[in-house]
Amino acid sequence: MIQQFDPPKRRLLGPGPSDIDPRVLKALSRHTIGHLDPEFVRMMDEVKQLTKYAFQTENELTMIVSGPGSAGMETCFVNLIEPGDKVIVCQNGVFGGRMKENVERYGGTAIMVMDDWGKPVSIQKVEAALKENPDSKILAFVHAETSTGVESDAKALCKLAKEYDCLTIVDTVTSLGGIPTLVDEWGMDAVYSGSQKCLSCTPGLSPITISPRAVEAIKNRKTKVASWFLDLTLVMQYWGGGVKRSYHHTAPVNALYSMHEALLMLKEEGLENRWNRHQEMHVVLRDGLEGLGFSYLVPADCRLPQLNAVFLPEGLEEAPIRKRLLEDYNLEVGGGLGDFAGKLWRVGLMGYSARRENVDYCLQSLKEVL
Ligand SMILES: *Cc1c(COP(=O)(O)O)cnc(C)c1O
Repeated sequence: MIQQFDPPKRRLLGPGPSDIDPRVLKALSRHTIGHLDPEFVRMMDEVKQLTKYAFQTENELTMIVSGPGSAGMETCFVNLIEPGDKVIVCQNGVFGGRMKENVERYGGTAIMVMDDWGKPVSIQKVEAALKENPDSKILAFVHAETSTGVESDAKALCKLAKEYDCLTIVDTVTSLGGIPTLVDEWGMDAVYSGSQKCLSCTPGLSPITISPRAVEAIKNRKTKVASWFLDLTLVMQYWGGGVKRSYHHTAPVNALYSMHEALLMLKEEGLENRWNRHQEMHVVLRDGLEGLGFSYLVPADCRLPQLNAVFLPEGLEEAPIRKRLLEDYNLEVGGGLGDFAGKLWRVGLMGYSARRENVDYCLQSLKEVL
């Protein structure tokens, strides 16, 4: 007989979702109210303010897409791309490949700039591609590649894009809240993130922010946005910006309570403190893992503190150990993707997961299992 589902209590040290603070879980279970209720609308205004803080932006078009990070990605691409547009897409892991898919499905041409998995996006290669394709409209890249744990230089890439009169689409799903992600200062144009990584909110929501430059480009489209649900010109009417709220789709009311709480916790902690916490926990984990014979895929100067991609000590098979950690220790770590499947682990320290208690527990469990 099917009974109530009671999930096991895990520690989530994988590539997301991350552990959720009890405060956020509690917010999720508050009374549902109507999504056009004045009280809900007031909360949404606060969510918007808090999201602007997280992104460090004054962009008026800053909102939460009702869908996971992939829906945020799709929103940026479908609104900015018109058939025939040329987009330079940087790929150095799994998520750049998805950008290419998006560009092509919406009728654009993707000019690929390829870098090896585990390497940051090469500024030189991007510059060469921009020179060769002066008619490009957009430069798209992943700030924090979750498949390899590498950070690309978002500031330099955005600066370059501006010099060549290109808009940028930036994936900050894993970076937001974990490392500096300065939308206005760096001049990013269409930026999407996810709720379940360093924001430690329940999965299924995607914060996005769109610069005035990109809003202009959307307003000047010659063709209709190919998706009704993700068409920002329609959703904007719900999320405000002066106009009265009207029905577009039913907002995920309770999920947005949890987003409000998660963002409030980010504000209370302070962005810099949160970045520092990720870095400090990374250092403790790194020292422990290296002491046990693990080695990092990515060199220290472009390594993400919140995503530790590590090779296991010589001669160990990864899958059975990962299984034991999950089953006997309730500890989740991630396996490798693509060419790294079966070869490395991705140990995430994201948001509420990035705690000393978790790092110690992880290292102690590993000592016992190895
Ligand atoms: C997790 C992730 C995504 C996708 O987010 P979903 O919420 O799983 O749709 C996109 N890009 C990066 C870099 C990610 O880490």
